[in-house]
Amino acid sequence: MYPPQTTEKALTETIRVAIDWALAHGLVVRPMLSENQVENTNATVTHAPFALYPTPFPRSQFEHATHLQQPWNSLIHRMSRDDDLIAETMETLSKLDEFMNGLYQIYLQVNKEGVAQTASLGIHRNDYLLHAKSGADAKTAKIQQVEFNTIAASFGSLSTRTTQLHRFLLASVKGYAGDQISMDQLPQNKAIQSIAHGLATAWKHYGNPNARVVMIVQPGERNAFDQRWIEYTLLEEHGILLSRLSLSDINSRATLSPDNKGLLIDGYEVAVTYFRAGYGPEDYPTQKEWDARLLIEQSFSIKCPTVAYQLVGSKKVQQVLAVPGRLERYVDTETADKMRSSFAGLYPLDESPEGMAAYELALKHSEDLVMKPQREGGGNNIYGNDILLQLKKLSPTERNAYILMDLIKSPPLDNLMIREGRTITGQVVSELGIYGTFLADGDREILNEAGGHLLRTKATTTLEGGVAAGFAVIDSPLLV
Ligand code: ADP
Ligand code: MG
Ligand code: MG
Repeated sequence: MYPPQTTEKALTETIRVAIDWALAHGLVVRPMLSENQVENTNATVTHAPFALYPTPFPRSQFEHATHLQQPWNSLIHRMSRDDDLIAETMETLSKLDEFMNGLYQIYLQVNKEGVAQTASLGIHRNDYLLHAKSGADAKTAKIQQVEFNTIAASFGSLSTRTTQLHRFLLASVKGYAGDQISMDQLPQNKAIQSIAHGLATAWKHYGNPNARVVMIVQPGERNAFDQRWIEYTLLEEHGILLSRLSLSDINSRATLSPDNKGLLIDGYEVAVTYFRAGYGPEDYPTQKEWDARLLIEQSFSIKCPTVAYQLVGSKKVQQVLAVPGRLERYVDTETADKMRSSFAGLYPLDESPEGMAAYELALKHSEDLVMKPQREGGGNNIYGNDILLQLKKLSPTERNAYILMDLIKSPPLDNLMIREGRTITGQVVSELGIYGTFLADGDREILNEAGGHLLRTKATTTLEGGVAAGFAVIDSPLLV
């Protein structure tokens, strides 16, 4: 029986021990403030939502996902340099989706003016769910890619801490799960170090010892400590300063140096601009934020990501990559086959014969599909009957703004989830994320690594994932 059955008393004690560890080790987020708490002093935290036990995950599938990361890093870079791919996907999207249009216009303008900085940094995360045919043995489940994230991939720090939490509980709490699992089933996770190393490598490549890294953040970010750990690790392990600024700060305080388009702010030069915001329309409430994004893109600072990286990270590009033969434009046949082995069915919703067939498929089998707009951050997808309702509202042209994907069906497991001190029990499924760090200058690869992982676990009763969006908790894999 896993997780192990214990007495109510022992369980309560384990939860107390786990919450204390989380609070003491910075596995924390800012609490949601209720409306009457107008005076926010930034002085309160709560533990990040976590799974009390690590969730079983097949070792072979964990290793497979890890091995796929380096080819993915290279692939994303090559796609970002493929103007035809970007034009092919964005010409239509930009007419239907104002947000994608905003990004695409920046991409076009900067390309026309001439790109100042030829190096780009990727801090990516590829996400996978396990899939098993209904009725099949859960042990036969294989990973299927949910998506790849090229901007603001978060939770590297808190996932590193969650791995440490589970290792601590296993080592120290009697009756936790020690008679069932062993430490070597809990893989080390160095996601914080790996992300900081990526930023440091780009900073060195930039070549100005007095320059800083800037992290672009959302005002009022609740997940601030996940970001702070990167800032602290960058300083402690690499001696590099990082400032957290919003797009609005950039707009009011940053300029470009006339000689080399260096991004200057408050008297220092910015070597690397690392976006932890800017991935959705909410991050651009006024023209000022768009102007800031353009200024950064025009600048000599190394972007993580460039607008091109963000565009090729779209769901539309993911769908196009699944078209037979497309991957082979960027990688050799063997690598293409390996990568494709983790693809779920992906379908266009355009006016091509394939798109019309996908539309018919959705009308008949909406229960087995997910409909996705070009958005990030969780909570945007459409499922089941809602697909039918949405399709009814859209003209054939408007459907182009979405893609369709087969619903990945994970075999459910049991776990206990702890959110703001409350326990949620029940059946869960987990989504594995693998971080990747990558630096290239033009065609020359300077850094290409798989770096740590994230496991997010949610109740089977919720369709969406996302920790920040309130659907999931942070977990770690128990390799079986
Ligand atoms: P976002 O960029 O907003 O994170 P995702 O594509 O990751 O968009 O979708 C959000 C969540 O929806 C995922 O974390 C996952 O829980 C669920 N989801 C997405 N695609 C699928 C799919 N094909 N099958 C099952 N669940 C999915
Ligand atoms: Mg995403
Ligand atoms: Mg996602």
